[in-house]
Amino acid sequence: MSLDELYQEVLLDHFRNPRCHGCVAHPSGEATLVNPLCGDQIVLTLKVVNETIEDLAFGGHGCSISQASASMMAEACKGRQVLEARNLGEKFRAMMRGEKEADDLPELGDVAALQGVRKFSARVKCALLAWEALDKCLEQSAAAKSA
Ligand code: ZN
Repeated sequence: MSLDELYQEVLLDHFRNPRCHGCVAHPSGEATLVNPLCGDQIVLTLKVVNETIEDLAFGGHGCSISQASASMMAEACKGRQVLEARNLGEKFRAMMRGEKEADDLPELGDVAALQGVRKFSARVKCALLAWEALDKCLEQSAAAKSA
């Protein structure tokens, strides 16, 4: 099996068996983002306690890349400190821009399987949507805390 095929398998597995699917009760942040180019929608809810993402879940619909990316993001970020999760997001974006290679980013785990998507520039937005939703939710959580 080639690396591309392996990545394809990981992506389809997340699409068919999404991790952290649903909705968090009493979220500290929630965001609904759409990608009109493709028709993707991501609804993300999360709960931050003591600067740690205690719980997060996603819903929505769209192409396999957008939904698999949300599942991967949720799995990678659940239980992490907010700063760590933001850091992962930066690394993921750098990978999608072609500035970093998945091989050099073992901390991304399954998320690295999306590297192949960067060859299709129109689909990169699909992969980034969940991470944009994460940023929005984290901003909300931070604002709610300081309010
Ligand atoms: Zn899409």
